[in-house]
Amino acid sequence: MRDFTLSKYRELLEAIASTKYGTTAVHDYLVSSMGRCIILRHDVDRAVDRNLAMARLEAEYGIRSTYYFRHVKDVFIPDAIREVAELGHEVGFHYEVMDKAKGDVPKALNIFREELEDLRRYAEVTTACMHGNPFAPWSNRDMWKDNDFRDFGLIGEPYFSIDYSKVLYLTDTGRTWANRNIRVKDVLETPADCLNATYCKGIRTTDDVIDLVKREEVDQVCILAHPNRWCDAIPGWTRELVMQNVKNVGKAGIIRYRKMRNNGRNK
Ligand SMILES: [Zn+2]
Repeated sequence: MRDFTLSKYRELLEAIASTKYGTTAVHDYLVSSMGRCIILRHDVDRAVDRNLAMARLEAEYGIRSTYYFRHVKDVFIPDAIREVAELGHEVGFHYEVMDKAKGDVPKALNIFREELEDLRRYAEVTTACMHGNPFAPWSNRDMWKDNDFRDFGLIGEPYFSIDYSKVLYLTDTGRTWANRNIRVKDVLETPADCLNATYCKGIRTTDDVIDLVKREEVDQVCILAHPNRWCDAIPGWTRELVMQNVKNVGKAGIIRYRKMRNNGRNK
């Protein structure tokens, strides 16, 4: 059976439902200390229709998760944002303002304020999460070195506000749950890696994630699924597979290049 289909995602939700894990959106996790739980987070990077399909599926299971919307033409669709909120999900801001401001921090903060206000016209927004463009020389992370997202009425940013030494972080970045060396921006800073190293070794496919969930060994897990990768129709699914293989080759090149450059610096 193919992986990264909506049917496979349904299997994952059913597996979660068969355990003692509760599911939670990012905001809810941050405001109430939870016991055994799975934080469900989604980045609305593109293909909004697939995001809506996933949001509706989760709603069928009575699940509230978080959808981080980018402020770009193909994603920032008021009706879609409203629908996700009406289904009971948390709407968050998936920002890429450092890219838009070409690394100029004051400019980035202004864009951040404007775009966040814009998103708040359609839903309540209390958390924001960076969108990593692996090909940019700057990271959206840099803008928070001397600034605080709390000044924008936000209570959290998953990359900063969740303690990944306690929460196992699983992401489908690169269309696999494994293979960390193809991640460029979507990497956590240790010591989270200890927890990940313990449990992520054998994990590649969604079935592996399902097994991990069913074992219930880890108290808290954060699952990041990009809905644009998950679809049932064969042509779209094949396109995703081919595209991701091309991208992974490119990303591996960037990582090799960075390593070479860093090695050069150290000499
Ligand atoms: Zn993203």
